[in-house]
Amino acid sequence: MSNHHVYINGTWHKGNEEKRSIINPSNEQVITEINDASLQQTREAIEAARHAFQYTNWPADPSYRISVLRQLADLLEKDTEKFAYIETINTGKPIRESRLDVSDSVQCLRYYANFLEQRTMTEKKMADGTTSKIIAEPIGVCALIVPWNFPLLLGIWKIAPALAAGNTIVFKPSELTPLSLLELTKLIDSIGLPPGVFNLVPGGGSPVGETLVTHPHVEKISFTGGTKTGRWIYEQCASSFKRISLELGGKSPLLVFEDADLDNAVEWAMFASFLNQGEVCVAASRILVHEHLYDSFIDKLIKRLDSLRIGDPLDEKTEMGPLISSSHLEKVETYIQLGLQEGAVLLRGGERIKEQGYYLSPAVFVNIHQDMRIVQEEIFGPVITVQRFNNDKEVIELANDTIYGLAAGIFSRDLERAEQIARKLRAGTIWINSYHTPYVDAPWGGFKQSGIGRELGPQGFTAFTETKHVNISENGKPLGWYQ
Ligand code: NAD
Repeated sequence: MSNHHVYINGTWHKGNEEKRSIINPSNEQVITEINDASLQQTREAIEAARHAFQYTNWPADPSYRISVLRQLADLLEKDTEKFAYIETINTGKPIRESRLDVSDSVQCLRYYANFLEQRTMTEKKMADGTTSKIIAEPIGVCALIVPWNFPLLLGIWKIAPALAAGNTIVFKPSELTPLSLLELTKLIDSIGLPPGVFNLVPGGGSPVGETLVTHPHVEKISFTGGTKTGRWIYEQCASSFKRISLELGGKSPLLVFEDADLDNAVEWAMFASFLNQGEVCVAASRILVHEHLYDSFIDKLIKRLDSLRIGDPLDEKTEMGPLISSSHLEKVETYIQLGLQEGAVLLRGGERIKEQGYYLSPAVFVNIHQDMRIVQEEIFGPVITVQRFNNDKEVIELANDTIYGLAAGIFSRDLERAEQIARKLRAGTIWINSYHTPYVDAPWGGFKQSGIGRELGPQGFTAFTETKHVNISENGKPLGWYQ
């Protein structure tokens, strides 16, 4: 299947004639070339998924689905090193992070297998003596669309619950990072699911993504990506009431209160802001520090930053790799110029640091005003702003003052107070004295323009179901309504 990258109805196909180069961002070399799915193939994949949903036993056989999820988890776990390597050469993320992504993916598959196994149907006697059953049914053909920052993990966050619930899938990876999904599809193929249950259509937003969004036989879109794309998708889906989940952008704040453990807070801020080169939807890109700690926080942060090991992501010691592409690097650099024009002070970083590869040193801006674009807009790279505050009311206002509401972090020794602050923050995930860990059994998603719906946990399963109420009257005796 060397040049067959499109998987439809259980068979590999050659895509369209044009070749897309897949680049290793750490050395700018072409890893391989991909033939994207054509428009016609995208439509065929949708029809294959529709056929599988209507005419195979897949939606009605939870025990089989549980075994498929467990087999996939085992195969993926066995191939951890291979998947971690592929993810690292394709995304530029440090190898240690890629291994974590694979292990989180395995955990997610197992979680939804167990979830399905333990699920019980709700059945209750109603006041009139009838019986009601509440059934979670699969929706049908689901199009799953993911970005380039966590290609495998974000894919599995959708694939695992979608399959668990009994849907059929057409999956579109990012055009920049299809490699781990191609490899995952080989594993799915080796398990031998009914043809059409899982289909892979590599390609860009147009025509592949747009076709999935607008096709009448796709019943649900589960999308992770930018807010701008998400808005367009939301609009397209409105006319047909297509089911939708949107995991979008963020501009998450990290709040450091005056009673925080300073060393811990600095260490967590580094992790919160620069994990995966800051190319994380929940990255803490706005650090808000109480004025009593502000100067010492900045000193320690800068020292810590200077010792960050940036380089070859395959090196076990590397802590930060390159950005995903040259155009993304240019976009991030444009924001750095913008920050300077807006009057912010660049304390560190923001420079290209290697001859080859899309490397940028992490940038720290101070002298910040809340209305600056570098504070309000998602940059999606290793660029942070550090602001000071002097009371709870002020920090809550600053934290909530963007169009986004994905996540936030709070650092304080006073847990009661931290929880009170957490209740006032308009964000889907709040970490107190930690950051970043996604828990497979807890929901993940955004307030405001960071999205619609939730992934992971029971909510992530419900997002791939329709609720049906079946009411059963044993004797069928008329009500006696008509006299
Ligand atoms: P993007 O919106 O450009 O692309 C995301 C995916 O959508 C890609 O597969 C792309 O090909 C596809 N796409 C683009 N246009 C489309 C269209 N018109 N119709 C259908 N599909 C289309 O985003 P990106 O640059 O790949 O990823 C970065 C963004 O993703 C950031 O904004 C980040 O915050 C967000 N993100 C969010 C989460 C979350 O959980 N909320 C997680 C990761 C990334």
